[in-house]
Amino acid sequence: MISIPSKGRPHDDILESMQLFRENDADHKNGRTWSLVYHLTPEHDAFLKTAHQLFFSENALNPMAFKSLKRFEHEVVRMTARLLNGDEKVVGTMTSGGTESCLLPVLCYRERARSRKLGGSLPEMIAPKTIHVAWEKAARYFNVKMIRIPLKDDFTVNVDILKKKINRRTILIVASAPSYPHGVIDPIEEIGRIAVERNIPFHVDACLGGFFLPFMEKIGYRIPIFDFRCKGVTSISADVHKYGFGAKGASVLVYRDMEYLKHQFFIHPDWPGGVFASPALLGTRPGGPIAAAWAAMNALGMNGYCEMAETIMETTRKLTTGINAIDGLKILGKPAMGVFAYGSTDSGISIFAVGDIMEDRGWHVDRLQRPDGLHAMVTPAHKSVADQYLLDLRQAVEMVKSNPGLSSRGNAALYGMIAHVPFRGLIKKEVKKMMEKMYGPEGEMPMGPKGKESFAVRMGTRIFSRILRWASRTGCR
Ligand SMILES: *Cc1c(COP(=O)(O)O)cnc(C)c1O
Repeated sequence: MISIPSKGRPHDDILESMQLFRENDADHKNGRTWSLVYHLTPEHDAFLKTAHQLFFSENALNPMAFKSLKRFEHEVVRMTARLLNGDEKVVGTMTSGGTESCLLPVLCYRERARSRKLGGSLPEMIAPKTIHVAWEKAARYFNVKMIRIPLKDDFTVNVDILKKKINRRTILIVASAPSYPHGVIDPIEEIGRIAVERNIPFHVDACLGGFFLPFMEKIGYRIPIFDFRCKGVTSISADVHKYGFGAKGASVLVYRDMEYLKHQFFIHPDWPGGVFASPALLGTRPGGPIAAAWAAMNALGMNGYCEMAETIMETTRKLTTGINAIDGLKILGKPAMGVFAYGSTDSGISIFAVGDIMEDRGWHVDRLQRPDGLHAMVTPAHKSVADQYLLDLRQAVEMVKSNPGLSSRGNAALYGMIAHVPFRGLIKKEVKKMMEKMYGPEGEMPMGPKGKESFAVRMGTRIFSRILRWASRTGCR
């Protein structure tokens, strides 16, 4: 059993162990990861660290005590509101990240509905199937029923169906600009018109696009209107810690006016600890990410962000045209920015088998399901590795083509099964067991040094054997 060392260790010694622990971490510095880490330049990273460190100890829990942090937050919110074409009435808060920026609107609109005696005992929210999973979490946490709307062939939400699902219990509509899985923008203006007509709040999840699409528009790309210019949009989330190139732990949530935001505030006047008021989810709020967000926005400026968008779009064009040119692969839908997914056009090519080979070659790639695909979020760090990525991908596809057996072996087979087995309850149960192990006293990692591979293998094997047992019990062999 691990306990606090009875005697403190020297700093150098500790830092050395910490560096050693990193050995098997994903290699994000050389553009090998295609999610999770957003690097601009080493200089920008160093600057962010300095800004973060300056406010390392400060706590935004009490804005009266640290007026600096209150000022950063206020200015970050104002700059974001302006960027998203909001007027002077737009208000908001900074949050700890995209998830908090998705949780809070659900709470806020639920409270707003309650205050107007709307929504009934089980209020509903409507969202495309591709909406970020943080919204599912929000629905579950706050007891709101999620109504999932299917997609059209282009991976945007089917608005006709969405429209039909609106009823007296609907308290919120959500759509993405763009969606996390495929990087496509839902028809925001069209949904906005419906929201106005039916008088229902409409949140645009622009966690990815909020700090990217406006810069694309500035440099001449044709971007559909997704922000406050669209009348029905009542709130927007945008992550500074993604394409805003701030430090992790920073997102912005803005509402059209205080009439909405006020329902997000938590006030408890009777606590023996004092009258308590909190604008968002957290109590203690670290100062570092707030300070670094402000610093990043000021350091980059519109020109820096536009340059960043240009670089990323050049790399993205190279990657997407390169991928479409590979016989047997195609980009899914029409991605709007530097986020996209691709799948196989040939039943002989398992995209998961391609993913395995890419992993073997040191690329950290995420798998998608329904439909199967591989995912990429492009950052400036990928400019120098795009050619290598395409080369490896072309060879991976060749290898899978000439060894069709690869798709039914190892991780690919198991990822495939996990994605396709109809027993979703079984998958949920198995994942829960894995988590119980990971967070159990042993803290067992379900994955080896190579990341997800053995995770798939172990989960897949267990599910497979359970299905076999079930099959033999029910006699259908
Ligand atoms: C990343 C993301 C989120 C969740 O943000 P976290 O910062 O990971 O909590 C929500 N919505 C979209 C569209 C995202 O891309």
